[in-house]
Amino acid sequence: MARPFETHDITNQSPPFVDVDLYATDRALGDAVAAAGHGAEADALSAFGRHWGRADLAEQARLANENPPKLKTFDAKGFRRDVVEFHPAYHGFMAESMSAGLHAMTWNADGTHAGNEASRAARYFMTAQVENGHMCPITMTRASVGALAIESKLLAAWLPKIASRHYDPSFRPWWEKSAVTIGMGMTEKQGGTDVRANTTTATVTAAEGDEYAITGHKWFMSAPMCDAFLVLAQAPGGLTCFLMPRFRPDGAVNGLRFQRLKDKLGNKSNASSEVEFVDAFAWRVGDEGRGVRTILQMVQLTRIDCVISSAGMMRMALAQAVHHARHRNVFQRRLADQPLMRTLLADMALEVEGATALMMRLCRSVDLAPGDAAEAARVRFLTPSAKYWVCKIAPGFTYEAMECLGGNGYVEEGVLARLYREAPVNAIWEGSGNVVCLDVLRALGREGEAAREVLTSLVKDADGLPGAAEVAADIATLMARPDVESHARRAVEGLANLATAAALRGSAPEVVAEAFAKSRLRHRHGPNYGASDLSAREAEDLVDRALVA
Ligand SMILES: Cc1cc2nc3c(=O)[nH]c(=O)nc-3n(C[C@H](O)[C@H](O)[C@H](O)COP(=O)(O)OP(=O)(O)OC[C@H]3O[C@@H](n4cnc5c(N)ncnc54)[C@H](O)[C@@H]3O)c2cc1C
Repeated sequence: MARPFETHDITNQSPPFVDVDLYATDRALGDAVAAAGHGAEADALSAFGRHWGRADLAEQARLANENPPKLKTFDAKGFRRDVVEFHPAYHGFMAESMSAGLHAMTWNADGTHAGNEASRAARYFMTAQVENGHMCPITMTRASVGALAIESKLLAAWLPKIASRHYDPSFRPWWEKSAVTIGMGMTEKQGGTDVRANTTTATVTAAEGDEYAITGHKWFMSAPMCDAFLVLAQAPGGLTCFLMPRFRPDGAVNGLRFQRLKDKLGNKSNASSEVEFVDAFAWRVGDEGRGVRTILQMVQLTRIDCVISSAGMMRMALAQAVHHARHRNVFQRRLADQPLMRTLLADMALEVEGATALMMRLCRSVDLAPGDAAEAARVRFLTPSAKYWVCKIAPGFTYEAMECLGGNGYVEEGVLARLYREAPVNAIWEGSGNVVCLDVLRALGREGEAAREVLTSLVKDADGLPGAAEVAADIATLMARPDVESHARRAVEGLANLATAAALRGSAPEVVAEAFAKSRLRHRHGPNYGASDLSAREAEDLVDRALVA
């Protein structure tokens, strides 16, 4: 036997969690996919799961994040370049995700929804377990169609390039490329939430009135090598949405001047720029003054991806923790068999069961929404609620999983440290915690009747689960209070957990839905895991389901 060290043999270290089928090992995902009507895709999803679970992709993810992108503002002679160079591993992930269609598979050729949101979500969820930075442009490109749909001419020109599955990272005019990606620029220095305070201005340049010159800045604009950006700027008629390409229609480089890249906590493989627009060419998207309404069509979809991506990160953190606990002995006993560790892992598994079921149920609502007003109402109320809840719990969850691996969890060679640094971003962008809670309140206030119907249907779905009726009553009471804004988080947390219990009722075994409701509806779950009142049997079942041997 090889003895790599002179003083000791290496024993009791868990093997790397690689070369696994990310789909077949995840019973919660399989159940949620079946409940969403996509059980027939199991073989294809399993092939996808095996591919994304490969050791070499895990290694590429490490490389993409250890070699962050570099901004090349000027060339050696002082001419502006304004390009960002990425590590080949990043390009590899872009090519993988685009060939799988994650950036566009939900759209028909005319820009209508293809009804396969849940099917894409299952794939996106597995991808999020491996590499997150590249998913930013994948998400924005997919969501851009929601906003572009309002301008049929622009949509007809751009959608074929958006839908193409042949990633093309070259810096060339979009019409010469095999495929394009689209970013978004809303946030300015003086305000990200309050985009009405935007100072960037837009002036009409063409007689027909849909071509503008834009001057100003954006304080955050991610994935700056996208081929175009949906941007908000102040036109004479008010805040308006625009499509700003990297190249002007005459083939010249457009007036986007990148100032620097953000030095971020996580999300290292992705570039996030500060940018100035100098008379930058752009087409108007939607009417002047309707910018927020137009771009919200995009934001609704990016928020759904934030939910899927956070759930995916939690899933990988859980799988790493369970895998480690099954291979590590402490005091002559496997960690996974120690009663306290088993309760902890089971409580964490329950959280991921919930997040998985909620995300898939929400995506099913997106699929059903075009012909079903009740499902459309669910999408409006539950997207910001799920965005708030799942993205908010992910950082604490990844920390707890890290601790399950002990000291190994804290070092950079492992995947937990990266997940931990990545996790907070989904809660901050695309509407921070308070902002999405206020969005839920606004939607509930604007559409009182539809809101009551959604609440009633959730209670019906969760019928008989402990605490469901009480949580629904609490939400209704909070909604009637004049100071409801101060209690928005409590109302939204209740709504998200109620929707989760209802989703679990429809997809997971009854024992899972019961355990979730007991510990998250009847009792308020604390910030830490492992304190839920789970029986030994429940704990064993949950951990078995969490990582199928
Ligand atoms: C890595 C990264 C990448 C990003 N990429 C992009 C991008 O590509 N394009 C883009 O446009 N933006 C991007 N952003 C910006 C992001 O969307 C904003 O940071 C976010 O919207 C918050 O805006 P802000 O930073 O101005 O904070 P603020 O709007 O100042 O908010 C600060 C805090 O106040 C809270 N708050 C706001 N209003 C209220 C209220 N009425 N009541 C109670 N609390 C409130 C918020 O929840 C938040 O916690 C990115 C951010 C990050 C971190």
